[in-house]
Amino acid sequence: MGMPTHEPPRVAIVGAGPSGLFAAAALVSDPDVRVDIFDRLPTPFGLLRYGVAPDHASIKAVATTLARVFESDRVRFLGLVEFGRDVTAAELVASYDAVIYAVGAADDRHLGIPGEDLPGSRSARQFVAWYSGHPDAEPQPMAGVRDAVIIGVGNVAVDVARILLKEPSALSVTDMPDTVLAALREARIENVWLVGRRGPEHAAFTTPELRELLETPGIGITLTGCDLEAIDSSVLERHARANVALIAGAVAESPGTADRWLHLLFWHRPAALDGEGRVQAVRLEPTAPGAEPLTVPADLVLRSIGYRGVPLPGVPYDEGRIPNLEGRVLELDGSARPGEYAVGWIKRGPVGLIGSNKKDAAETVAHLLEDLATQPRRHLDDLAALDATLAARGVRPSDLEDWRRIDEAEIARGGIRGSERTKIEAWHDLLDLVRHDPGPA
Ligand SMILES: Cc1cc2nc3c(=O)[nH]c(=O)nc-3n(C[C@H](O)[C@H](O)[C@H](O)COP(=O)(O)OP(=O)(O)OC[C@H]3O[C@@H](n4cnc5c(N)ncnc54)[C@H](O)[C@@H]3O)c2cc1C
Repeated sequence: MGMPTHEPPRVAIVGAGPSGLFAAAALVSDPDVRVDIFDRLPTPFGLLRYGVAPDHASIKAVATTLARVFESDRVRFLGLVEFGRDVTAAELVASYDAVIYAVGAADDRHLGIPGEDLPGSRSARQFVAWYSGHPDAEPQPMAGVRDAVIIGVGNVAVDVARILLKEPSALSVTDMPDTVLAALREARIENVWLVGRRGPEHAAFTTPELRELLETPGIGITLTGCDLEAIDSSVLERHARANVALIAGAVAESPGTADRWLHLLFWHRPAALDGEGRVQAVRLEPTAPGAEPLTVPADLVLRSIGYRGVPLPGVPYDEGRIPNLEGRVLELDGSARPGEYAVGWIKRGPVGLIGSNKKDAAETVAHLLEDLATQPRRHLDDLAALDATLAARGVRPSDLEDWRRIDEAEIARGGIRGSERTKIEAWHDLLDLVRHDPGPA
């Protein structure tokens, strides 16, 4: 069965993170296009909700801007639909003029060293998902944790270090779930190590993020593994020079005694994690000549060496990304795959700030609209047929009203604690707020 081609074009977006929502906003600026945004969660915003640090309230506020796209009556939100499990590529391609993949990067990279999987060692991604209240996150035991080692020197590593070093009382104004705050209160953090494979002048963290970490109230700061004096700042780029100067200043001004310490350790990489039944120490080997191997005690090890895209069933995948040319999906042999597009981290790889996804989505959507205008329209299945397929599978999408109910419940929970919002982290509590239409008996 087909639909007449004069019907308005419809586009499916898989993933309601920043890139999916930027793409939707760009699409509805065209007066005809209709957009259905699918997400496996009943809540939009992706890593803006489940990645961006809870104490970065001003960035979190970008959600208000992103949510404006839902005000359009040409946009629908279909939560609780997981691409690959609940709906297939073939089904979306049969029902929409175009499909945009905006699924981000939901996995992480591994170190590949002995002991990496000992209890007490996990990825920063999992730790971030936990403190952000992602419903899939495993709880993080924190009772008695004194020494934490973070492998990596990017902005995610810096976020995680800051959250560990802050007094839990300073975090109660954030949107962290109550269970997370309670767990963090059980920790006895004294030492947080940040380990970089190369020098501070090569680290990926940005200067404002680094400054914020170094200015965490009440901490002492040490530096190991590198001699700042030996760095020739005149050959460095501006941000690297600023980072080196910041570290030099912070170490010089560090108090001699402190309850909590940030140890910056450069030119070392982990060789193994040691421990009986759980991680107890990290063995580090030097990456520069003349430096010494080190063993650092650790109750918690967080590897922060990058997020990684996961393959979507039925969609080309290469090294963490969907192969594409400026957002047009390509087969693995480089040939065209009309009607399918990619945006955000699954298009570019896991780099870039929220804002980078806007330009990136604009590029993809421009090509999509160009293709719609120049290529013959296909005959599509009725959307009712897709609804029926999902219903027959027992998949009942949540909608915008459900999200608003979750939103209001979180704001109400926040009121109790004196924060703007307190996240609801348990699947069953989220699902209690999703009011499914009972449908025919
Ligand atoms: C820890 C961390 C901190 C960050 N901090 C900042 C910051 O302070 N400032 C800043 O500007 N940027 C920050 N970023 C970067 C920012 O979060 C990303 O640029 C942005 O979120 C990428 O958007 P995306 O839409 O491509 O992916 P995501 O945000 O990951 O969104 C992907 C969406 O797709 C959904 N999805 C995945 N798989 C499926 C499936 N199979 N079916 C249906 N739905 C699916 C997910 O549920 C999610 O909602 C941070 C990133 C991280 C990891």
